[in-house]
Amino acid sequence: MTEEYTVDIELLCGVLNEDGSIEKSCTIKAMTGGLRKKISQPEYRKNGIKVIDAVLDACIISIGKNPFVASREKKRMLMADSDFLMMKIRQLSLGNEVSMQLQCPSCDTKWNAELHIDEIECFSIPEDNVEIIDGRRAFKIDTEHWKKCVMFYPNREDQAIIAKIAMNNPTQAAYSLYGRMLHLRDNKEVDDSEFMKEIDKMPLMIIDELTNEINGILPGVESTHEAECPGCSNTVEMEMGGADFLFKRPETGNKKRLKIG
Ligand SMILES: [Zn+2]
Repeated sequence: MTEEYTVDIELLCGVLNEDGSIEKSCTIKAMTGGLRKKISQPEYRKNGIKVIDAVLDACIISIGKNPFVASREKKRMLMADSDFLMMKIRQLSLGNEVSMQLQCPSCDTKWNAELHIDEIECFSIPEDNVEIIDGRRAFKIDTEHWKKCVMFYPNREDQAIIAKIAMNNPTQAAYSLYGRMLHLRDNKEVDDSEFMKEIDKMPLMIIDELTNEINGILPGVESTHEAECPGCSNTVEMEMGGADFLFKRPETGNKKRLKIG
C-alpha cells in the first residue's frame, strides 16, 4: 500500500496512559477491497458493532508509539473516538463527500443531499470536568435530582454492549448506558441492576434531566445534519452513519459507455 493511503491524525479525546498522560496521535490507513468484502457478509451487515470492530482493527495502524491492539483499547478508547475514527477512516478511504438520498416528509420531493465530512462538528472532553477513577476518565454532575454524581465517559466496551441492545430498543440502550456510566450518586456507589429497576419507576422529567446534562458534556461527532428541501425549502434531517455512509457505491452509469438508440 502506498503512503498516500496512510495518514496521521489526532484523536478527539485520546487514550489514557498508565501514567495519567493522554495519547492523541494515531496513524490510520484506508479500507481495502478485502475489508469491504468482509463487512459485506450478512452477519456483519446485520451487526453494526461487528463492522466497527472490523474496520478499526483493519485500519488503525498505531496509537502513539504502540501498534494498535483492539482488545487493549476496549477500555482505554472512548466511544467518541471510535465514532471519530470511523468518520476519519471513511474520509480517507472514500473521500470527503457523503451523498445521501433524502425524501421530504412534507412534499415527497426526492433528492441527493451532500454532506462534507470536514464540516462535521466534533466535541472533545470538557477539560474542566475530568477526573481519573479506576484508570478511567469520569465527569461530575450535580443537578436538582442528580446530586453529587460521578459518571464514567463511555468507552468501546460500553459501546459494544449498548449497540446490541439498541438494535431492538434504543431507549433501553440509552438507559443501560446511563447505568453503566453512573459510578457514584450522592457520593455512594451505584449498583447497575438496582439502577435499572429504579429507572422503571422514575418520572420522565427526572430521567430527561440526566439526559440533558449528559448530552451537554459527552464528547462525540455530530451525527444529525440538516438539508434544505429543493421542493418546499423545509428543513429535513439527515442522519450520518450506517451502511450508506461506509459503503459508498461506485457511481452507476459510466459515462464512457456508448449509448445506443
Ligand atoms: Zn419539501
